[in-house]
Amino acid sequence: MDRVMNTPTSTTVTSKPFRLGKEWRTRNGADGALTSINPADGSVAAVVTRALPKDVDDAVAIAWEAFQNQPWRRLRMDQRAATLYEISRRLKAEKESLARLQMQDSGKPLKECLNMVESAAGHFRYYAAICETWQNEMTSPRGDYFSMTLLEPFGVVAAITPWNSPIMNEAQKVAPALAAGNAVLLKPSEETPQLALELARICTEAGLPEGFVTALPGYGEDVGAALVKHPGVRMVSFTGGTETGRLIGAVAGQKLMPVGLELGGKSPHIVFADADFEKAVAGVMSGIFSSAGQSCIAGSRCFVQKSIYTRFMSELVARTRAIRVGLPDDPTTQVGPLISATHRNKVADYVDLARREGGNVLVGGEIPDVPALARGWFYQPTVIDGLSNRARVCQEEIFGPVLVALPFDDEADVIAQANDTVYGLGAGMWTGDYARAWRVARALEAGSIWINTYKQSHIPTPFGGFKASGIGREKGLGGLRLYSQVKSVYWGLHNQPLGI
Ligand code: NAD
Repeated sequence: MDRVMNTPTSTTVTSKPFRLGKEWRTRNGADGALTSINPADGSVAAVVTRALPKDVDDAVAIAWEAFQNQPWRRLRMDQRAATLYEISRRLKAEKESLARLQMQDSGKPLKECLNMVESAAGHFRYYAAICETWQNEMTSPRGDYFSMTLLEPFGVVAAITPWNSPIMNEAQKVAPALAAGNAVLLKPSEETPQLALELARICTEAGLPEGFVTALPGYGEDVGAALVKHPGVRMVSFTGGTETGRLIGAVAGQKLMPVGLELGGKSPHIVFADADFEKAVAGVMSGIFSSAGQSCIAGSRCFVQKSIYTRFMSELVARTRAIRVGLPDDPTTQVGPLISATHRNKVADYVDLARREGGNVLVGGEIPDVPALARGWFYQPTVIDGLSNRARVCQEEIFGPVLVALPFDDEADVIAQANDTVYGLGAGMWTGDYARAWRVARALEAGSIWINTYKQSHIPTPFGGFKASGIGREKGLGGLRLYSQVKSVYWGLHNQPLGI
């Protein structure tokens, strides 16, 4: 089937406004609106007022005004918890409708969208509980004073998110940033602008003072860049591609501004000969094909020990061929569409490159020839082998349903190959040897290691990358610290004046 480009339908629909403090801002027309396209059928999912760089000045001023004059940052943490619980409750109450909006924006299967809203609610509940239980640190006195360490908010922080996990990525940043007492300017991906607007609405309806969460649905190179550069933005938390992360990191370096960077990956997924075969095949498939491979932690390089390589690949290929690619609202769908025609073209170009580099496309490698899917941006689950780990498709993030498989000799060989990448986000292994699992887990250069499981992720466990996969950790207690600056307070108890 021919590849087509994104062709947003020109529309006269009035765009959804975004809120700046008490004001609703609306713009229409090609330059004033963002059109979100439903990846399943190319229809218009929503038209949203486009935030422009000039809105950033207003949003920063409103956020600082709120931060300084509203009680939020001065509330006791348990008082902040009440509002965070209420945001969580409201997210759950609106779970169905939010999941459907997200399905239209992102093309993700409905089941996955429901899980993402659930996870977003879970983040607010978790950070509410952290607020309830947080204890500042007292350090042992070493003189006539005591000292304690407090966490203080930065003031106004920016959160910039990608398109692949809307509402979950936003909640992962907004919940801890609010828990720490900050006001947040949230810039969602231009591909999926709707859920950030909904989250900002829910936060206000739950009782968060106006100006504490402002969603700015605009493009990265103008609104995103303006946020990062703005002197009133004191910290940026970014999730997205490594190249964008470098740009943001460079500006943050100039400003001497703390930054959290959650970036790309090319995660190794290792199968040793002594693994539980059945679980390993299923784990490798779910590691790459869930979310149509559009996941930062997709296990996109599969290393299989030579003695089982032929048998493993034959089973993997047969099962991959049987995956149900389908519409997101069909409950039997296992793999939905990719985010856009442009992105699907990129994925298809990588598969063509693999062919040119001498790879064998064992299954997939085409746009599905299914009439019901013809209007969307679908791509067949694909497995490639016959390449070296240095080939571009083994080194670059494809971010689609494309797995490259590579045989290995032994532990030393697979550790060397797995670590031979600029990335270091996740890594998984399947083995029956527990001592080896420990050795390999320690040797792999990645922020999350999965042993006899893959892609599990929960809120209390820190998440982030080694090497070019990022800086800093989200989730868990560290998630709160990411959005806080540490203040040490010494309290003198001297009986005598200090000497010189
Ligand atoms: P992207 O880098 O193109 O965009 C991410 C966000 O940054 C968007 O909101 C975009 O508008 C904005 N942006 C773009 N240029 C900017 C600039 N110059 N200044 C400020 N903001 C800018 O990424 P994407 O295509 O939306 O998402 C896919 C990428 O995200 C993949 O590389 C994936 O691995 C990564 N990702 C990482 C994690 C993680 O936790 N490590 C999670 C999800 C996605």
